[in-house]
Amino acid sequence: MRSEKPSLVKTFTAALYLSLVCFLVVTSQQTNKPRTLLNVQLGSEVSSWLDEVEKKLGNKIYAEYVELDEVNSESDYVFGTSYITEKGIAVLQVDESFFGKDKKKTESVIAHELLHLRLRVRGYPQFLFSPTVKTKRGLAQDVEQSNVNDLVSMIEHKIFKSEMQRSGFDKLIDLTNGLEAARYADYTEDGQADTLNYARAVLEWNNPKLLEEYTKIYKAKGWTRSLESGKKIAEIIRASTINSPKDVAPVFLRCMTVLYQAEFTVKPDKAFALTKVYPQMLIYASRLKPRSR
Ligand SMILES: [Zn+2]
Repeated sequence: MRSEKPSLVKTFTAALYLSLVCFLVVTSQQTNKPRTLLNVQLGSEVSSWLDEVEKKLGNKIYAEYVELDEVNSESDYVFGTSYITEKGIAVLQVDESFFGKDKKKTESVIAHELLHLRLRVRGYPQFLFSPTVKTKRGLAQDVEQSNVNDLVSMIEHKIFKSEMQRSGFDKLIDLTNGLEAARYADYTEDGQADTLNYARAVLEWNNPKLLEEYTKIYKAKGWTRSLESGKKIAEIIRASTINSPKDVAPVFLRCMTVLYQAEFTVKPDKAFALTKVYPQMLIYASRLKPRSR
């Protein structure tokens, strides 16, 4: 027969635990004061993301509306962007097309960029071509880096997809405007950018009908390689499980193999200025096959 003592201890422990939980809940509610950025009042969850970024960097964020698309661009394809300066200041930019418009939509763009920044301050890596990687058109760092940046963004979108969905922000931003661009594309490149655009459509559009139309365009233009590689990359990202910063590089490298049909390795850049915040991984070609496109 057991004595009553352990259960009393248990009850006491449970009560203490509960009161601790309540205390923590109350405390977190008290500290998450709603914040305002770019004249938009942020919800409490988004405010907490902003708080985390600023607290970890020890600096206030710098936010602004700017023209993010190329000059003379007819549409607005880039909604927001963000990065951390060498001095450790987070910069968040929203396209000027959002200025003075629907504040909930602007909040969605701000939230999205804060989730990218939050990954940075949590130590999630960025990737940069090493100067040793060269292509026929020049240094990979000059001519291919934008593809790497797009790929890393797509992997990060998968990491914070549930937060964008739970908050309803994903529904407020129309990401299918790439369809319009593909309809009128007058080039026949079938290149890495087309591959990534297709992967993005599979992963982020949430619209089977538009995806079907997009697929038809790729087939009509003869972009079969981009179509197939895009599907593969989308599947790698969709099936990935990323719970910590170290889980990113293996997924990134598998996608790079499909994207460039070559093998790469990555190593932390020891000279990187923000290495205390997050690692910058340098990309090296390990076994280059001849580029076939
Ligand atoms: Zn993004």
